[in-house]
Amino acid sequence: MSASAPITQDVLTIPRKLPQGPANIVGLTRDELRDALIAAGTPEKQAKMRVNQIWQWVYHWGVRDFDAMTNLSKGYRADLAEHFVIEVPEVVSRNVSADGTRKYLVRIAGGHEVEVVYIPETDRGTLCVSSQVGCTLTCSFCHTGTQKLVRNLTAGEIVGQIMVARDDLDEWPEPGEGTGENGPRLLSNVVLMGMGEPLYNFDNVRNAMKIAMDGEGISLSRRRITLSTSGVVPEIAKTAEEIGCMLAVSFHATTDEIRNKLVPINKRWPIAELLDALRAYPKLSNSERITFEYVMLKDVNDSDEDARRLVKLIKGIPAKINLIPFNEWPGAPYERSDWARIEAFADIIYKAGYASPIRTPRGEDIMAACGQLKSATERARKSRADIAAEAGLSK
Ligand code: SAH
Ligand code: SF4
Repeated sequence: MSASAPITQDVLTIPRKLPQGPANIVGLTRDELRDALIAAGTPEKQAKMRVNQIWQWVYHWGVRDFDAMTNLSKGYRADLAEHFVIEVPEVVSRNVSADGTRKYLVRIAGGHEVEVVYIPETDRGTLCVSSQVGCTLTCSFCHTGTQKLVRNLTAGEIVGQIMVARDDLDEWPEPGEGTGENGPRLLSNVVLMGMGEPLYNFDNVRNAMKIAMDGEGISLSRRRITLSTSGVVPEIAKTAEEIGCMLAVSFHATTDEIRNKLVPINKRWPIAELLDALRAYPKLSNSERITFEYVMLKDVNDSDEDARRLVKLIKGIPAKINLIPFNEWPGAPYERSDWARIEAFADIIYKAGYASPIRTPRGEDIMAACGQLKSATERARKSRADIAAEAGLSK
């Protein structure tokens, strides 16, 4: 793509054949499940109760087999099995880093693969979930950006990533156990920071997060879900209203000139417009603060002047600035800022009154760190020359 080409979401959803045979229950909203049950013969009067029962089996107890749903009659279970399946993505490989980070490669319909990363911490555990196979955007420092968009994930494939991680962590309550708090969870937080731009797959991301937040199931509070966007301005208010989760924004630069190169969507929605949308977010979503993600690239965006400009720009926005040391990948046209530089940058922001944590790279030994995700099996790749050209680094 040339530098002047408009940035568009050119492949919203690649038309796919309607699924043949039984429908997957995973990913249906409560309303969709109700409609599907009625269409499959459940009497309308019973539908709501059946939704509640099935919902609890699938999302609270993690059951995948209708036969285990012992509060449903045998006949009804057989009916369900005829019309529906309960399917989550298939785990193709699982890598565990020396620091405990787990990276799953999961396969979804069509044979595509996406990566899911679990990051354990002392008091919690965060799952980094993907929303697309590849990405239409071409942020020049991001490995996923070198992979063309293949398709949007369905809601089932998105919430299914949480379910496979809970399988692996063995974190489903025993059938019969209540929905109350059972102490700290291994998988307590979700970040939409894997592959893809979540706001270019809005409806599926919203539905998946609604399922994850539902109190009768996985029951993650909206404050434990963080959606990261590169800055799809028109969808930001919708995120507040329809999802209400925490928001992170891939800010990464303090001038339009540099941000255009790093996060090319900036050409469409420049910094000033983005900041307006961010200013409105906390009120609309009733959440406290926005996370500004800032990748530290040596001699590109890491000067003291940048830090001071950043503080000025975000004035008035309740914010935390998450500094991400650049994670290298083969062919990357950037280098990570020196540690002393990152600390000096963090210090300026901290002294201006903002939390400025430096994100410790996790799972680097298994290529699970931020921006390193890319399914090795996907063939539609950009060349190194393309990457450099898009970064404005070509001669
Ligand atoms: N598409 C969304 C979410 C996925 S990226 C977005 O862009 O916000 C999650 C975070 O990792 C983003 O802030 C992204 O800019 C950052 N990131 C991408 N590549 C990186 C790299 N190589 N090193 C460090 N952070 C990177
Ligand atoms: Fe896509 Fe986010 Fe990577 Fe940019 S940083 S290319 S939006 S995944």
